[in-house]
Amino acid sequence: MPAAPIKVLVPVKRVVDYNVKVRVRADGSGVETAGVKMSMNPFDEIAVEEAVRLKEKGVAGEIVAVSLGVAQCAETIRTALAMGADRGILVETDAALEPLAVAKLLTAIAAREQPGLILLGKQAIDDDMNATGQMLAALLGWPQGTFASKLTLEGDTATVTREVDGGLETVALNLPAVVTSDLRLNEPRYASLPNIMKARKKPIETVKPADLGVDPAPRLTVVKVAEPPRRQAGAKVGSVAELVQKLRQEAKVI
Ligand code: AMP
Repeated sequence: MPAAPIKVLVPVKRVVDYNVKVRVRADGSGVETAGVKMSMNPFDEIAVEEAVRLKEKGVAGEIVAVSLGVAQCAETIRTALAMGADRGILVETDAALEPLAVAKLLTAIAAREQPGLILLGKQAIDDDMNATGQMLAALLGWPQGTFASKLTLEGDTATVTREVDGGLETVALNLPAVVTSDLRLNEPRYASLPNIMKARKKPIETVKPADLGVDPAPRLTVVKVAEPPRRQAGAKVGSVAELVQKLRQEAKVI
């Protein structure tokens, strides 16, 4: 266990709910979000859950949830507060935020908050960047443990089991560190009604990117967003012989 409970910063992103069928805007400029159900990015729920479990073990102290984006991101912070985070910071901007801008803004927040651990999701399910945690660790000069399926804190060390292609890799990081959550780290809890009520009283501070000395202007230009081509209808075959004949003559794959 660390000498004193460590402060944990958990960035939580507001994204299109994972149950929603995503639609591309008619002009191909991006994904339609108007009138669409938005929720906390599922990997960030896992990160919040892990922070709360660390707190329940007495390893973590204060948990600060941070969301960056439009004013409604405060709802995402409230969800984190209802799950057990202690307070929130909303970095409010209407600008479209790319991972580098998010990482710079989080670097500025980390300088103010001095957390011992920053626990992010491995990726946001809206644009699948999988970059923010890595960029943040680089900007801070902190060690990183990405794709975590297990996390333990002991003294000044975080031990992270990572899900990599070949199996599981275990790394030891000196705190302060950046860790990103993979799917199997835990199963997030549902917030209970009393905790949702309690969360309403927890404080959320609002700051602007300019207050943090960061220009969040995009560096990338989206050329076009398009839906994947529709799948062709399938057909039933009457016999193995017919299947072989179709594979040979129509699909020409054998
Ligand atoms: P990405 O690199 O965009 O796939 O996002 C990885 C992780 O960075 C997410 O799971 C969040 O923990 C964090 N993150 C990215 N964008 C934001 C945002 N606008 N607000 C809060 N957290 C964010």
